Amino acid sequence: MDNINKIMLQSAEAFKQYRKVSGKQKAVFLRAIAEEIEALGMELIHTTMEETNLPEARLLGERGRTIFQLKMFADLLEEGSWVEARIDTAQPDRKPLPKVDIRKMSVPIGTVVVFGASNFPYAYSTAGGDTASALAAGCPVVLKGHPAHARTSAMVADAVLRAVERTGMPEGTFAHVDGGNGFEIGKALVMHPVTKAVGFTGSFAGGKALFDMANQRPEPIPVFSEMGSVNPVVLMPEKLSTSSESIAKDYAGSITLGVGQFCTNPGLILGVDNADLQSFIKVLASEIEKITPAKMLNAGIYQNYEGKKTVVLAQDDVTTEAESLVEKTDTIQGLATVASVDAEAFLANPTLHQEVFGPFSLVVKCKDLAQLASVIQHLEGQLTATLMATETELQANDDIVEALRNISGRLIFNGVPTGVEVCYAMHHGGPFPSCTDARFTSVGPDAIKRFVRPASYQSFPDSLLPAELQDANPLNIWRMFDNEWMK
Ligand code: NAP
Repeated sequence: MDNINKIMLQSAEAFKQYRKVSGKQKAVFLRAIAEEIEALGMELIHTTMEETNLPEARLLGERGRTIFQLKMFADLLEEGSWVEARIDTAQPDRKPLPKVDIRKMSVPIGTVVVFGASNFPYAYSTAGGDTASALAAGCPVVLKGHPAHARTSAMVADAVLRAVERTGMPEGTFAHVDGGNGFEIGKALVMHPVTKAVGFTGSFAGGKALFDMANQRPEPIPVFSEMGSVNPVVLMPEKLSTSSESIAKDYAGSITLGVGQFCTNPGLILGVDNADLQSFIKVLASEIEKITPAKMLNAGIYQNYEGKKTVVLAQDDVTTEAESLVEKTDTIQGLATVASVDAEAFLANPTLHQEVFGPFSLVVKCKDLAQLASVIQHLEGQLTATLMATETELQANDDIVEALRNISGRLIFNGVPTGVEVCYAMHHGGPFPSCTDARFTSVGPDAIKRFVRPASYQSFPDSLLPAELQDANPLNIWRMFDNEWMK
């Protein structure tokens, strides 16, 4: 643990310098990280393929997304308005009391500990969205590598360190701590007084444990854990009556995309039990039976999948509708599976509400729309919720739309939840237990807001204010100036 202490103290020293680095210089740094990752070429892709069983095309896409995210934050910093500058100038003559000059902007919070995710070895690991947003905010990062892709993590970490050196960032702006030594290292990082926030993607057990630890510190800190979600999908009767076959085919694809190893995987499908739902289940089952099994990320994730799936399938009133019939060629290939249960049994059994991380989905058969609405009200917080409906059904069932919005971070109309666009309007986060803080997104430029806090300057001499708050607006950013947006 001496080494951890040394790394954290160096990170604290780095923060003293790094928090003062200009947005434009940080942008150069982030672009340099992107270049260094690109320069790792196919050696990185091949290493990750060996470690994670993810196919080349998926990894090329994920690397592209990672580089895009770094450049997106560089653009954000170059433009500069993200600091949300608010300026209220003094009114010395105001009656009955004069008004002081007060100005506010976002400032970095300090060292962020990031836990790499097993299912996103690039985009949510070493130089992924959490790291990029923290560095963009002006926070040093200490990265806990995921043991499931330790060599990938080390290669990307070296790329980040080369970018630190190349662009003259303070030593300690980024540090990499190897995974693989049990939970002690993670605990030491979260408990260290230098740590000011934590970013995590993974299991509920892991994310909640880190959150609890952080709240037991003498100085509690925010933990942004993105954990499990079953991403409920509601099939409205009119929509299903016209397109049950195409919806079933689309959902067979979404359930099994990436061997189901996405936090937005549709794990729960709700519908009114009638002939259309029966034919939906029939088509879905026949599609699932044709799915060629693929290797899961690692043996642990495979065992978790099979274990949790077996428990769900063994519950009273659960019927296995289909399992892939294509023969396995490797022990850790996860077989795609769909099951069904009636709403009453579902409501009475919390085990059925849990995420089964992998290519699995449970169809809940409801008596009518009133029972379907009641099922939604009993669901926990989710990253996404999807409505397959006609516009008329959408209009006529405001209670269902509201109930879904109430439990989820992203509401989808006639689509699939898998596939998370990286853009301003994306909210990737949701009420507990999908996340520990529903107010923030881990995807898109707004992810930076997790790692800053507002700070006001009262009655400061103009020349001693940060450039963002000076009268002349030297950075030419958008600001709220005496209640008006202007540059
Ligand atoms: P995990 O078990 O949550 O672990 C993720 C990271 O957190 C690892 O680095 C781990 O440390 C650390 N960690 C977990 N519990 C901890 C604790 N109590 N104290 C300190 N550190 C802790 O996730 P995983 O290994 O990626 O996969 C396990 C299961 O998580 C999967 O089977 C799946 O069910 C779920 N999962 C869900 C999502 C999702 O998006 N919903 C994503 C990935 C995984 P070590 O490195 O020391 O092990």
